Amino acid sequence: MKKLKTLSKLKKELDSVFSLFIRHKYAKDGIVHCYTCSVSKPIKQIQNGHWIPRNNLATRFSEENCRPQCVGCNMFNKGRPDVFAVNLLKEGIDIIKLQQTKYAVFKIDAIWYEQKITEYKQRTEELR
Ligand SMILES: [Zn+2]
Repeated sequence: MKKLKTLSKLKKELDSVFSLFIRHKYAKDGIVHCYTCSVSKPIKQIQNGHWIPRNNLATRFSEENCRPQCVGCNMFNKGRPDVFAVNLLKEGIDIIKLQQTKYAVFKIDAIWYEQKITEYKQRTEELR
């Protein structure tokens, strides 16, 4: 019998699947530019940066909210949300709408996680 995974385990799994997807999405020949300082690094040394912090579940797995970032920007400079926002605006992302999404009631169940994990694994494969 297949053992059911806990929500926290699924969330962790989606975090890593989604992170890999975001990094591949913006990579060229395995190299990614940090969204907020432009330094270029191999995929493995880049993180998935969130403009609206990760603790907001409604935007945690939003492609509009996530871009590759170097460790310096993402961890030591707390994501540099000011630069991040300016760059999102330049891309034409509606950051006000994104801000509002943050407050949306967002319930995630195991099925939602399973679907997203499958979807992003597949989309990452297509990018490789
Ligand atoms: Zn950086």
